[in-house]
Amino acid sequence: RDRDAVRATPRRTQDRADETPSLPESDGPAPLRSVSRSFRNEPDTDPSLAANRAWALKAVTTAAPRVHEPELTDPAAVDAVVDRAAASSWGDRSPADRAAVLRGAATALAAARGDLLTVMVGEAGKTIAEADPEISEAVDFAAYYADRALELEGAPFTPDRVVVVTPPWNFPIAIPLGGCVAALAAGASVVIKPAPQVRACAEVGVAALHRGGIPADALQLVHTDEGSAGRRLVTHPAVDHVVLTGASQTAALFRSWRPDLRLVAETSGKNALVITPSADPDLAVADLVRSAFGHAGQKCSAASLAILVGSMRSTDTAAGARFHRQLADAVRTLRVGHGSDPSTTMGPLIGPPDEKLERALTRLDAGERWLVAPRRLGEALWTPGVKEPVAPGSWFHLTECFGPVLGLMHAADLDEAIALQNATGYGLTGGLHALDQDEIAHWTERVEVGNAYVNRHITGAIVQRQSFGGWKGSVVGPGAKPGGPNYVAQFGTWHDGPLDR
Ligand code: GLU
Repeated sequence: RDRDAVRATPRRTQDRADETPSLPESDGPAPLRSVSRSFRNEPDTDPSLAANRAWALKAVTTAAPRVHEPELTDPAAVDAVVDRAAASSWGDRSPADRAAVLRGAATALAAARGDLLTVMVGEAGKTIAEADPEISEAVDFAAYYADRALELEGAPFTPDRVVVVTPPWNFPIAIPLGGCVAALAAGASVVIKPAPQVRACAEVGVAALHRGGIPADALQLVHTDEGSAGRRLVTHPAVDHVVLTGASQTAALFRSWRPDLRLVAETSGKNALVITPSADPDLAVADLVRSAFGHAGQKCSAASLAILVGSMRSTDTAAGARFHRQLADAVRTLRVGHGSDPSTTMGPLIGPPDEKLERALTRLDAGERWLVAPRRLGEALWTPGVKEPVAPGSWFHLTECFGPVLGLMHAADLDEAIALQNATGYGLTGGLHALDQDEIAHWTERVEVGNAYVNRHITGAIVQRQSFGGWKGSVVGPGAKPGGPNYVAQFGTWHDGPLDR
């Protein structure tokens, strides 16, 4: 295809792969087998090439398939699906065989990039710039976990029988498929129940995995309702593990249904980026805007707060005035629209704002003012907003709102900023923009987040380089991170070894 022909030019992610040769050498239990060094991140589509832009335009202006209705509302029908998964011979295949199939699945996903782009933009409203890297991430998960499967060769390990994957709507390809291929790499069979908003995305993605060689009984997709059929899926006795990415309340609900449930859950976040006077202001503004408003802020990893330190917080100082002006300009120039328009830089919300987001978009608390006031353009279409100063302990400081609102907080010094950053109860991502090495060391030691980024945007973790996962209120379960070395090995039981649990 045209796209493949022009993609021979070296690309961003490919370049980065060569910069980071080191894989984690564990000083804990001895590695089961030598780690494969063959993994390379799948490159994103390079939009500087006209042929790629034409390819993307064609993909996003093609009508996306639609799936609206749940098909399984009956617990007995759910039982049949889980029983079939439990009877699959997938878990009897050798790790090398599974790894080979997963590599085929990665290839099939890469070949389906156009169809995946069509459905992500058409169904979830993503922009091309947000959707395309997510496809790369899904390919990465399949290839990276194939290497992890190889490490299980000869290990005292029995895979789970059935793993249920219950993903969110905000990353409708990478998170659902990532969960599936991780469990499959371990030797478990998978039943995936997509989020209702993005059923078609899951169907297109799962079909690609099947085309790549994953057996139909080892990976089944069901659209259940959230009632008794959904509950049956989580409580079926053959289900050994549930992978959830979603709200902390959903994790609690699953636990209330089944107290002994083995749950791997990535939950909420309230993430902040700290900016000190030593920061490169241009970089800080660009990374902050990307972190806060990418996918209209609908990421667990998004920056919802920026904590401005010292002279950065006041418009009476030259540095502070410049920062505020640049930030406001950058936010106002985001082009809000649907992802099918390639000039869109911030897409729509998944639906009308819920109560929390509505409050964040329409109300100010005591002392706050809008640096940039959001505007409602349509039911699910809002321009971005920036409010300041968000008071310590206030509603916006502590509440995840999942949308295009950024709050600026003020701190006298770095220690105060870290205290504000650590006070949210969550601990998913966090960032620091500072060029001063002492500040970087000081912050890195003290920040309480799973993914701490220095002089970088705080979203868009890359498989193998930044395994993604939280701390404190942002994680439930053992906490092995997707895209990292230990994720696959949790989908099973270890016998008589240092990793026995
Ligand atoms: N892995 C994504 C990132 O690094 C976030 C996933 C999520 O929002 O749940 O931005």
